[in-house]
Amino acid sequence: MTDISYVRLLRDLLNFGKQTPGTLTVSAGLAIYCNTGFLLMTTTTNRSPYRRVLLKISGESFCREGESGISMNELSSVAGQIRDVVQKGIQLAIVCGGGNILRGKQFADISQSIVPSTAHYMGMLATVINGLALQDALESAGVQTRLQSAIRMEGVAEPFIRRRCLRHLEKGRVVILAAGTGSPFVTTDTAAALRAREIDAEVVLKGTKVDGVYSEDPLRNPHAIRYSDITFREVLSQNLQVMDAQAMHHCMEHNIDIIVFNYKRVGNIARVVAGERIGTRVSNEPRS
Ligand code: UDP
Repeated sequence: MTDISYVRLLRDLLNFGKQTPGTLTVSAGLAIYCNTGFLLMTTTTNRSPYRRVLLKISGESFCREGESGISMNELSSVAGQIRDVVQKGIQLAIVCGGGNILRGKQFADISQSIVPSTAHYMGMLATVINGLALQDALESAGVQTRLQSAIRMEGVAEPFIRRRCLRHLEKGRVVILAAGTGSPFVTTDTAAALRAREIDAEVVLKGTKVDGVYSEDPLRNPHAIRYSDITFREVLSQNLQVMDAQAMHHCMEHNIDIIVFNYKRVGNIARVVAGERIGTRVSNEPRS
């Protein structure tokens, strides 16, 4: 083989292992014999169809079933799952909710002296508390992170700046997006949909306690049917619970798929990112 052929072969092999958005990256471990001896090449395994994803985890991920506050066990379990995803080279941004601490609407409804907008700001601050906890849990699991907040609070978090967020993602850091949109009267579902578009995420992964979108609440009706694929229009016309309506409309309009799945089953975040057909995919055109 000529030197030129070696160069071509090496170039082709390197391209073979390169990660390209929307394609499979194939794991390769190759030993090539050339004039100068054996050259050992390895690439990492990444079978994800995604390059960048946005994961929405609600406040209930931070506490035990039926409880509130923050449980270190729940937090470590989610952090471990996230570490496994990041190790595969996926760019991951996380929008965290705050319902384990406070939801603005519920709080405003039961309090006489706190006006609704204040209650919603309190809810947004709850997401920052969760973000701080998740950041430390991830860092102690060996994952590099940045916490960005939509409400400025430089002492604890960077401000959300799109270009800076993208830079962190490109460097392999998990970016935790806290304080929702920074504006009251919406939820972190809406924040997830808006941020997904802003950072060019290919999909919104909505972690829930159930296995996907059902015809009825599966916790109340054990005979409810789970959809593996459904369109935004069907979700809206049947009033099915996926994400809040604003988030749904945004994703529908901008053609961002949502995958609803059970993140409580350990390994599911990695499975969904790897393209396994778990949960329910909500899209404009369902898969055939
Ligand atoms: N919130 C808000 N604006 C936002 C995002 C959140 O006002 O852009 C408030 C809202 O009161 C919400 C609370 O923060 O109830 C916590 O977020 P969310 O209810 O979405 O948390 P989750 O249900 O996901 O735990």
